[in-house]
Amino acid sequence: MKALVYHGNKDLRLEEVPEPDTQPGHVKLAVDYCGICATDIEEYLYGPVFIFGEAPNPVTGKMMPMITGHEIVGTVTQIGEGVSEVSTGDRVALNGVLTCEECYWCRSGETTQCPDMAAVGFAIDGGLAERIVWRADRLVRLPDEVDS
Ligand SMILES: [Zn+2]
Ligand SMILES: [Zn+2]
Repeated sequence: MKALVYHGNKDLRLEEVPEPDTQPGHVKLAVDYCGICATDIEEYLYGPVFIFGEAPNPVTGKMMPMITGHEIVGTVTQIGEGVSEVSTGDRVALNGVLTCEECYWCRSGETTQCPDMAAVGFAIDGGLAERIVWRADRLVRLPDEVDS
């Protein structure tokens, strides 16, 4: 599949990369749209800032090169084992934050304070790609009256 891959400061490449495999508890999405955020421009011009370039992220184990893009909507094309939250054909927005799920902040529901927070497109491959595999419990189904 085609993906926009960040290799470092002012080094963004449109590449052919292997399509990710669906895992248990995850779904595969065909990406319909992915925003280009001011943060992406900052990463291009001045980065790596938030993209893990020196060492892997502790939650995901991933570092550069990284597929960018963190504002993602897509259509579910494949369901992993044990997924009941969404079905094939559902249109979804992606909650792109993964956390440790064990610290005080995670247990209090304040996941944005987790010291090991991992965001899609910075600490794990993102949505400027044809497909993405993501956790089924981190998706929001779009109602029919909402355009994607
Ligand atoms: Zn953003
Ligand atoms: Zn945590």
